[in-house]
Amino acid sequence: MTDFEPVIGLEIHVQLKTRTKMFCGCELSFGAPPNTHTCPVCLGHPGTLPVTNAEAVHFGLMIAMALDCTVAPRSIFHRKNYFYPDLPKGYQISQYDIPLGREGRLGDVRIHRVHLEEDAAKLVHAGSSGRMHTAEASVVDFNRGGTPLVEIVSEPDIRTAHQAGDWLRLLRATLKRIGVSDVNMEEGSLRCDANISIRPAGDSNFGVKTELKNMNSFRFIERGIEAEVARQESILRDGGQVVQETLHFDPSTGAITSLRSKEEAHDYRYFPEPDLVPIAPTEAMLERAREALPELPAARAERFERDLGLTAGTAKLLAFRGELGDFFEDALGADGQVEPATLANWVTVELVPRLGDADPQESKVEPRALARLVELVSAKTISQSAGKTVLDVLAAEGGDPERIVQERSLAMAGGDELEGIVERALEANPKAVEELKGGKAKAIGAIVGFAMRETKGRADGGEVNRIVREKLGL
Ligand code: ADP
Ligand code: MG
Ligand code: ZN
Repeated sequence: MTDFEPVIGLEIHVQLKTRTKMFCGCELSFGAPPNTHTCPVCLGHPGTLPVTNAEAVHFGLMIAMALDCTVAPRSIFHRKNYFYPDLPKGYQISQYDIPLGREGRLGDVRIHRVHLEEDAAKLVHAGSSGRMHTAEASVVDFNRGGTPLVEIVSEPDIRTAHQAGDWLRLLRATLKRIGVSDVNMEEGSLRCDANISIRPAGDSNFGVKTELKNMNSFRFIERGIEAEVARQESILRDGGQVVQETLHFDPSTGAITSLRSKEEAHDYRYFPEPDLVPIAPTEAMLERAREALPELPAARAERFERDLGLTAGTAKLLAFRGELGDFFEDALGADGQVEPATLANWVTVELVPRLGDADPQESKVEPRALARLVELVSAKTISQSAGKTVLDVLAAEGGDPERIVQERSLAMAGGDELEGIVERALEANPKAVEELKGGKAKAIGAIVGFAMRETKGRADGGEVNRIVREKLGL
């Protein structure tokens, strides 16, 4: 049976968090009462003139540079004509044949183009199911109309659903790091369409593609791509042909339905926007955008791996969630003794599950306190398990790890105390002692387990093992 290889290209829309809209002075207004942030320009009244938002151009240049694109010395706006109630002018101002940036790269995926445009208004389908065809009424909120957008189009370099998810996470982290967008998929400030085709493995031509529209979470994107690849495979295996069309994936049922076919595809009748001057970035504008770029997540992950010896997975986890990376680096800087890889594990394996999505900088855990805690564990002043108890306290109340260890008597059991506990463990487990003496090494588990329970996890397992063997003369 032929094996098929998926070919995937992504189109991403990013809402910029500028102060005002793309072509007028209305302030951006996520969550404001409907139709309170509008003016004659963004309502498409005749005789009004658009003016390009300089901050949006600046953010667009930052994105183009962060994605390693060539910036066009002179790019222009076009009118993309279509009729829809969320588009009062009857056209969207976008870029067409000369985008702001082209031929870039992020990670292992090439970027085809990056361009500026404006968002449409928002249609709200009111009534029973909230869906267009069954709604009792559809109303328009023009607050969103004219919000600055950057569209990013990748080359079809992605080969699996999982790779698509990973790459989008990197893109999202990058956009977040440079501070140009809230990149919130649920709220729609980051939206993704996936173009998908399959081809016989080893083939160099591309198959017919379909486009999955507007998926609003990483998991849905991965699931949607998987479902569409499976659908195309079964069509080809049955001797059929994939039809070029735009599709909707319903995450609740897993169903894929057609939105429109190629025959119904729009002819947008693009033509140059006569009311706007071209974007011709000056050297000063380019310099300002370049200087505004911080260290990007991909580079940061590489640095963590190379200079600090973190595993690739941990390095990515910290670098792709910038606030975790910042907390980690603060903790590392606050305490020169702590071993980076050990600290990184405590952040990703212990701290993150305790805080969930919250920013650790805003938690009660001070970076310095976590570093100190990790040192106490590394020095075997406290056990691993006592360390976790201390972190519970830090996360709930904050404070100083040494104080917590004292107040709660969490110091490692040792010396006479531990000797006594091992004695008792031996007395309480005569059978295990016999077996152990008889050469059954596994029997030590019962004795060590008993001792660990007695100390409530305050002992070092290796040390207990050693004392048991010593006492039995093994
Ligand atoms: P269209 O003209 O239909 O918009 P484009 O060539 O502009 O197509 O590409 C749109 C997106 O589709 C890009 O992300 C591109 O990488 C992707 N793409 C193009 N051809 C294919 C294909 N055969 N399979 C999967 N993705 C593709
Ligand atoms: Mg396209
Ligand atoms: Zn306006």
